[in-house]
Amino acid sequence: MTISYEKFNLKEVINASGRMTVLGVSKVSENVLAAQKFGGEHFFEMSELSIQTGSYLAELLKVEDAQIVSSASAGIAQSVSALIGQGSIYHAYHPYTDRISRREIIIPKGHNVDYGTPVEVMIAQGGGELVEAGYANMCTPEHIEMMITEETAAVLYIKSHHTVQKSMLSPAEAAEIAHKHQLPLIVDAAAEEDLFKYIEAGADLVIYSGAKAIEGPSAGMVVGKKEYIEWIRLQGKGIGRAMKIGKDNILGFTQAVEDYLKNGSESGDSMKDRLAPFITDLNNISNIDAKVVQDSAGRDIYRASIKVSGNKTAKEVIRELKTENPAIYTREYQANNGIIEFDIRSVNKEEMDKITVRLTEIMK
Ligand SMILES: *Cc1c(COP(=O)(O)O)cnc(C)c1O
Repeated sequence: MTISYEKFNLKEVINASGRMTVLGVSKVSENVLAAQKFGGEHFFEMSELSIQTGSYLAELLKVEDAQIVSSASAGIAQSVSALIGQGSIYHAYHPYTDRISRREIIIPKGHNVDYGTPVEVMIAQGGGELVEAGYANMCTPEHIEMMITEETAAVLYIKSHHTVQKSMLSPAEAAEIAHKHQLPLIVDAAAEEDLFKYIEAGADLVIYSGAKAIEGPSAGMVVGKKEYIEWIRLQGKGIGRAMKIGKDNILGFTQAVEDYLKNGSESGDSMKDRLAPFITDLNNISNIDAKVVQDSAGRDIYRASIKVSGNKTAKEVIRELKTENPAIYTREYQANNGIIEFDIRSVNKEEMDKITVRLTEIMK
């Protein structure tokens, strides 16, 4: 039996909610699939594959070196471990040894968020001891500086919409204060779109997730200083083994980065073009008033926004969209105001038609 949703008794899922880990994050392109297929069908000297894809990416990204890892989370844990062990093979084999006490990782308090997993769990997995700087709503360079001791191994900065944004030092300020004390700065930029900015701001290691902005397969990437990247590779003999990534995804991810740099992500204008016929169809459904809205954070992302009226509430409609097959997931943040949003970055024409059909049934 060929692979299908039916084979495992699964519901087809239409993801109109954006890049959501709980739904599998993103779809990969034919180009990336071809690279994954080549990886799946051939053998490699794995250490060569890891080093050579790393240097290929480093060239593209204008950094000293790069290492593909299994996820951004694995990137955090292994970066922390690498900067504690500093290339020691004894440490790789004994990652939580008492012989090394320099384990403190300083992070702005408002950056210790839960992105699906708390950041502090990944720090602990890497053998780091969490030290929060500043307060829930603010962190200045001075707040970081006053927490630095002989036991500090690194400063970690989380660049994300999940974190507290106001009254936070910038990545460049974090780099400056870390370097003043000869400490490395790690930036977790897992979901960020700019693959150059944080290295340019002075970060020593920058971490990206494979399937978010880059739309690659399940993977992660750490870029930065050559020596540190070598220390991360050494983790493969220790904690990194439990975070191993396969040859298929190493090649698929490398292709995804190359394509992403060439094509970027879909433009707002393209989204508006694709949304136009969808909006017309939605407006033909009774008790639905549809329009195009821009992302509330001002990013170049456009979505369909519908206002639900009549005898069903937006919350009921959202629930009904999820319960049938296909299960349709939307953006629910404004449901209390009777509004449902559809993010179409991972939705094609055929799926938009299925959404229209389902909504017509629900609103009947
Ligand atoms: C998604 C995310 C991660 C984890 O990425 P994975 O590749 O899923 O492990 C880490 N940090 C932030 C800020 C994220 O948004």
